[in-house]
Amino acid sequence: MTTTVAVLGTGIMGAGMAGNLANADLDVRVWNRNRDRAEPLADAGAAVADSAAEAVAGADVVLTMLFDEAAVSEVMAEALPAMTRGAVWVQSGTLGVEATGRLAERAAATGIEFVDAPVMGTKQPAEEGKLIILAAGPDRVRSALEPVFEAIAARTIWVGERPGDGHRLKLVANAWVVSLVAAAAQSIDLAARLGLDPQLFLDTIAGGASDSPYAQAKGRAMIGGNLAASFPLEGAAKDTQLILEAMGQAGARQDFLQAVSALYADALAAGHGGDDLAAVVAAFRRDHEPGGR
Ligand code: NAP
Repeated sequence: MTTTVAVLGTGIMGAGMAGNLANADLDVRVWNRNRDRAEPLADAGAAVADSAAEAVAGADVVLTMLFDEAAVSEVMAEALPAMTRGAVWVQSGTLGVEATGRLAERAAATGIEFVDAPVMGTKQPAEEGKLIILAAGPDRVRSALEPVFEAIAARTIWVGERPGDGHRLKLVANAWVVSLVAAAAQSIDLAARLGLDPQLFLDTIAGGASDSPYAQAKGRAMIGGNLAASFPLEGAAKDTQLILEAMGQAGARQDFLQAVSALYADALAAGHGGDDLAAVVAAFRRDHEPGGR
């Protein structure tokens, strides 16, 4: 029998994921708060629902790809009661470890299976079905999720059965991503301030042991000023807070990530929330006191 999947949230990531689910011949329903962002998915064969409750009714799998805990909480207050008992809720938005625990409890209280499944990869991998899923949830639902995960991901890392472990790994990996992009911005800004063409920095690391495709892509975006969002800076700023929260719980040293977080907060305050996270370079570009921040 064809698996029925409801995708709640068809923003940058959810739209790509829903498109691949529909192309994989799964029975797909989509819902988005702003309906205009869901409608193009009808061309791929998805049914566009008028409400989250309508989208999830009778679905085997419900995939949430919404901005933060507040959004998921609000949407699932309507959707959870409409879900079939025993259906699986795959929660893929980046919401944090504590939020994941709270949502898993809500699912359990309603007889819904919960899988913590944040993803690595941005707009293009979402559109190409090449995300990496960091999954944590009960072994008994894994086989039912196979066709769903196969359609959206290049691979799935099952971290374990404990909800929150997917997010723990996601925050570990995102600490790396937000720091890498901020470090690239720092070198690009410094090169320009020292009177060099910043492209020389990217050329210098190219192909060497310290190179990374992500640093090259984001570095080019910073230099060229093409800041159309693959990963909106607002989301990166949110994630730095979630990482700091997890660090606090774990007793980890936070001053490095606090400095990184302050850079994203500065760029957010300067109006770059809807731009790509490469816009963190704006935090370096204002003039600074000699010897100061
Ligand atoms: P996005 O394009 O900004 O989409 C955000 C989604 O959340 C939209 O569907 C938006 O609906 C919805 N939303 C926000 N507040 C809501 C509310 N109060 N009620 C209902 N819906 C609400 O962002 P995205 O990049 O797809 O990110 C989605 C999630 O994936 C985030 O948690 C993000 O951190 C995570 N993520 C992103 C990337 C990436 O590279 N972009 C990678 C991995 C994980 P509207 O369209 O109506 O505003």
